[in-house]
Amino acid sequence: MSMNSLHDLYVDELKDLYSAENQLLKALPRMAKKAAAEELKAAFSEHVEVTRKQVERLDTIFAGLDVAPKGKKCKAMEGLIEEGKEVIEAEGHPAVIDAALIASAQRVEHYEMAGYGCVRTFAALLGYDEAAGLLQQTLDEETKADKSLTKLAETIINIEAEGADGDEDEEEVDDEETEDETEVDDEKTAPKKAKGTMKKTVKS
Ligand code: FE
Ligand code: FE
Ligand code: ZN
Ligand code: FE
Repeated sequence: MSMNSLHDLYVDELKDLYSAENQLLKALPRMAKKAAAEELKAAFSEHVEVTRKQVERLDTIFAGLDVAPKGKKCKAMEGLIEEGKEVIEAEGHPAVIDAALIASAQRVEHYEMAGYGCVRTFAALLGYDEAAGLLQQTLDEETKADKSLTKLAETIINIEAEGADGDEDEEEVDDEETEDETEVDDEKTAPKKAKGTMKKTVKS
């Protein structure tokens, strides 16, 4: 590709995001399927719908530029999804798998946030105000998705992952201990009870 103008770069970056979003559309349902916690399943499923809208916004922008959105594969998203696939194929404690899914998904969101932040700025610099607005909307959605994932990590994952280090059968076996091993009805207490190490891993 030629990169002699900011416009060239803008189009190239938009194509990269278009490819990224479309790859993600295929990957998200698999992540939803793998997730154990209902809240996490729901978050992934909801992001499928959000992502469809984001693709539509990109279609609108490409139509305005009179450019076809094809011709580029986002290799970074391909790699991120590849790593996510390792989690999908992994076996282990459901809460730990959920934490790993969140870690993968947050990498994806941060990649998208970087991409949309750039194209939004390019659009504004190039005087494409409407496109800049659409891209900002998507950027806000990605930011929101990222924050929701952090919140899920803090509220549903940590407490369930307690006692998950090593003993895979523990969740089934110990019925006597009902207080802190049971399901998370009380989300507010979860962060306090969570193990510091687990929390740090998920949040970073
Ligand atoms: Fe997206
Ligand atoms: Fe890319
Ligand atoms: Zn996204
Ligand atoms: Fe997203």
